[in-house]
This record gives sequence, structure tokens and C-alpha cells, in this order.
Amino acid sequence: MTQPAPSLRETNVHKLASQQFDVLVLGGGINGAVSAAALAARGAKVALIDRGDFASVTSQQSSNLAWGGIKYLETYEFALVRKLCKARNRLLRAFPSSVQEIRFFTAVARGFRHGRLKLWLGALLYWAIGNFFTRRPRLLSRADIEWEEPTIETRGLQGGFEYSDAYLHDNDARFVWGFIRTALDRGCVAANYVEALGSTRSPQGWTTRARDAVTGRELAISSRLVINACGPYADEVNKRDGVSTAHRHVFSKGIHIIVEPVTPHHRVLTFFADDGRLFFVIPMQTKTCIGTTDTRVERPEVEVTPEDRRFVLENINKRLRLPRPLAEADIIAERCGVRPLVVTGNAETSRDWTQLSRKHAIETDATRGRLTIFGGKLTDCLNVGEEICEEVKRLGVPLPFERRVWYGEPAEAVRDEYFHQALLMDLDALTSANASEKLSTRLWRRYGAEALLLLEAIRRDPRQAEVIIETSEYIRCELDEAARREMVVKLEDFLRRRSKIALVVRHEEIRAAPGLLEACRILFGTAADARMAEYFGEPEAPARERQVAGRE
Ligand SMILES: Cc1cc2nc3c(=O)[nH]c(=O)nc-3n(C[C@H](O)[C@H](O)[C@H](O)COP(=O)(O)OP(=O)(O)OC[C@H]3O[C@@H](n4cnc5c(N)ncnc54)[C@H](O)[C@@H]3O)c2cc1C
Repeated sequence: MTQPAPSLRETNVHKLASQQFDVLVLGGGINGAVSAAALAARGAKVALIDRGDFASVTSQQSSNLAWGGIKYLETYEFALVRKLCKARNRLLRAFPSSVQEIRFFTAVARGFRHGRLKLWLGALLYWAIGNFFTRRPRLLSRADIEWEEPTIETRGLQGGFEYSDAYLHDNDARFVWGFIRTALDRGCVAANYVEALGSTRSPQGWTTRARDAVTGRELAISSRLVINACGPYADEVNKRDGVSTAHRHVFSKGIHIIVEPVTPHHRVLTFFADDGRLFFVIPMQTKTCIGTTDTRVERPEVEVTPEDRRFVLENINKRLRLPRPLAEADIIAERCGVRPLVVTGNAETSRDWTQLSRKHAIETDATRGRLTIFGGKLTDCLNVGEEICEEVKRLGVPLPFERRVWYGEPAEAVRDEYFHQALLMDLDALTSANASEKLSTRLWRRYGAEALLLLEAIRRDPRQAEVIIETSEYIRCELDEAARREMVVKLEDFLRRRSKIALVVRHEEIRAAPGLLEACRILFGTAADARMAEYFGEPEAPARERQVAGRE
């Protein structure tokens, strides 16, 4: 009998142990993903491991905004705002279908620390700092708000203003996956569920001991340099490896809740919460995502507490005019994570806690060939990738294609051909009734040039365009794609990160969806039942099935 072909992940785990790399990246959140994508495209031999799934820590918990940091104008951080605005503009230009401009409709209460005119002037300044790249800000009277967004409670408002920033149409974790996939396409050897246990330095370079969480096997990975991109765990990983740094992290917890849509308009509603911080109501597919909070915590492992939920619900209920107030039972899903904020040495952080800057810092130990990425934002990810390339080159790793552009959607000609083919086969007629957008648009945004192959699959077998998990928009050929190319190890990887089904469909509804088992069979073959049981916290399936689990 012929052996089944190894999965992409199995092949990569094997390569991790058998090859010598220029750079090993620890951590597959946004900072690790862009580092790997940039270095691989420019010709370095790169490996990347994450102890969980890619983007399964901070990078799946953000507000999904690519924003220039308007609030940092209040602390006069003009250089940071300029940098973030430019970073946002670059993302808008490079990823026109997945990073999109969106209006922020901002309501200001009477007695707020700034008047609406001053805030509007701030918005104009913000627009100018961002090179007038987005649509012009607008001043809003109370009557304008009443007329244009009747869902906002206008009692006690002095008026407001509207300005533009950008948001990630799919979600943060899918955005990160895009960089991992690009890195893989350019020869990076990446694997999820491989944990770094410790790295040691010898004159030949670094040896990192790692454990494959799927098989339990240990392996050793050799590299000239190590980049620590472990986000909130970066300090712990450095300490364990005997690396001391001038920077360190402190943590700020933030939560979001997802509910049925509170407004029919495609815009972000912005308020100042009771604690004075910006508070957003953000569209998420056909639902609404509300948050966030900013609470100092000591550890990265956090969960939504009853107080967090109460804070968000109370704040939103005060500011919206809903048929009935939102209650806990209305929450479809929750998100919760810590922002790893960078500080230097023993800097005092208890004062002005929420004012701590969201800058990133890359610290390099040139003698030992070790880099650590501290802090940062998804918005700034292209800068992180560029800066990492500079540092790695400075440490003597040749980057033969150093001018190569390593990010962005496929060329216009590919896009044009895709949409032409989609039109010729009348693809959009297959869009499911409850879909939030045309099928052609969604496939292009999620798969880029690979979407041409999905068209081919649908032409070959029209059933490939059928929605499998009812209440979601995902069609059969997308599951094939995920199984083949997206390194899905657990059901959560697919439901929460490659797609956002787990964010917009209630847990019980996913469980009850008749198509779920078929979806799992496509993703996991004979381990389908085991993966479902694992996700829903049900009794373990037989051991024989578990062994096949790693096969995507
Ligand atoms: C509530 C909230 C809202 C936010 N909103 C925004 C926003 O709207 N816009 C924006 O630009 N930014 C936002 N941010 C900030 C942004 O999300 C983070 O700065 C960014 O995701 C950090 O990415 P990272 O790669 O550094 O860390 P992570 O995403 O945490 O990645 C680190 C990875 O390292 C892995 N790892 C840890 N230890 C090991 C080990 N021993 N071996 C292997 N792997 C390991 C982890 O599994 C993890 O996947 C927000 C953050 C939060 C918490």
C-alpha cells in the first residue's frame, strides 16, 4: 500500500530538524510573520515556529484597526502619529481588498475634556499628518448625528466629528496568516504547534530545542540568528535563554464583545467611555464588535471577567438608543488579550498608565546574533518587516534580493484576469443568500492569485461552491484549500483564525450545523470526530484517531 503524502506541516517539521537556517523566528504573531515574510522574500533561509497556532495569542485579539493613532495627538506624540499614518497608508495601498478605509463617526458628550471644535481641528490635523490620504473629516452637530445615526443617544451630546482610518476586512488573524503563507511561498520553513524550549549559543550559531506538540517529539533547530517575536512572552523566552535586554514589556488587557448589528451603516461608531478612553463599535462581517478596555495586568494569560463585560455593556447601553439594552445573553462571542507595551529598564509605569506609547522597539545583541521585537501594533507591521531586514543584514546575513517587495496583493493584471473569469462563469450568482458580500470579492480577498484555482475547482465541480457549514459563508472548495495549504491542525485554527466563523456564529449554532462533520472530514480526514470532540470539550475520541490529528 502506498503511504499517504505527508502534510505541509509534517514536511516542515522534518525540515526544521534537518536543515541549517540563517534565521529562526520564534513566534508567529504579526511581528514574527512579517519578519519571516520579509526575510524569505529577500533571500534569507528562514524558519518560523509557534508553540500554538499562528496568531493565536495577541494578534487574534485586536480591534482589527489599521489606524494612525489619532489619540496620541493628545499626548503630542506627533512623530508616532506620522509614522503610524504613513504605515496605515502603505497598508491601504498594498492591500486594497483587505485593508479598507472606514469612517469613524465620533460622538462627544457635553463636559468632555475637549470641545468638539477642538477635536475636529485635531481631526483635520490628523488628516494632514496622514498626507490627506483619506476622505476629509467632517464636523457634526447634534442634529447631524440625530439624522445620520439615529441609533446614537444624543441626549447629553455636544455634537461630534467624523474622520477616516482603516480596518481589516477579514480579521487580524487571517491578515497574519497571509504573511505566513507568503513566507511559505518564498521558501520559509514554518510550523505551528512547535514550541521553543530553549536556545543555546555556540561559535557556530544557535541551537534551539523545540517540541512538536502534535507528536510530542523533540527536535533541534540550527540557525545563525534567532529573532524572538514571542509578543507578551518575549521577556520570559529571553530570560530562559540567558539574554538580557534594555527593554521589557508591561501588559494592558483589552476585551471586545460581538453582538448582532446595532446599526445598518458600515462605519465605526466612536465614543469616549466613562474612563475617558476611545471606545469603538466596529462592523464585523454582518455583526458588531464592541470594545475595548485598558486594564493593567501582570500576566499575559487573561480572560473576560464579569466586570469587563459589565463595563462594556454599561458604556454601550448609555451611548446607544437601542430597542432594548444589550445584555450578556446578546453576546455571540468575546475576544480578550493583552497589549505587550514596551518600556525601558525599570522605568516607572504606574503613572499615566493608559498614556504609555504603543511604539515598537527592536533590540539587537550583535555579538550573540539575537534580536527581540518589543511592543508594536498590527498597523506598523510593514515597518517591522523592513527594520528586521536591515538588522539581519547588518549582522552579516546576505539578503541577495534586498529591494524585493515582500508584501501586497497580486498585480493588477492577475486581479483583472480573476474577476474576468469570475464574470464569465457568473460566479456571483452562486453567492449564498445570507452572504455579506459577493462571492467573487470574498474569494479574491482571502486567496489572492490562488482564487483562480478555486474558480477552476468550481468549474470542474459546481458543488465546490456550496456552503458547507450553514450560517457561515464558507464554501466547499475553501475547506479543501484550508486542508491543503493552511496548516489547520485543530478545528479552532479554522473556525477562529483562518475564518472568523467562531466570532460571528454562536458556539451552539456551530455545534448544531449539519455540515460541520463534513467540513471536519475535509479538514482532518479520519480524525474528524476527534477534532470535533476536542473543540467542543467532549470526551476524547479513540487514540488511533488522535494519531492522525496532525495531518492537515
Ligand atoms: C485588545 C487589543 C486591541 C488591539 N487593537 C489593535 C488595533 O486595532 N490595531 C493595531 O494595529 N494593533 C492593535 N493591538 C496591538 C496588536 O494586536 C499587537 O501589538 C500585536 O498583535 C502583537 O503581535 P506580536 O506578534 O508581537 O505578538 P503575538 O501575536 O502575541 O505573537 C507572539 C507569538 O509567540 C508565540 N510564542 C510564545 N512563546 C513561544 C515559544 N516558547 N515558542 C514558540 N512560540 C512562542 C505565541 O504562541 C504567539 O503566537 C491591539 C491589542 C490588543 C490586546
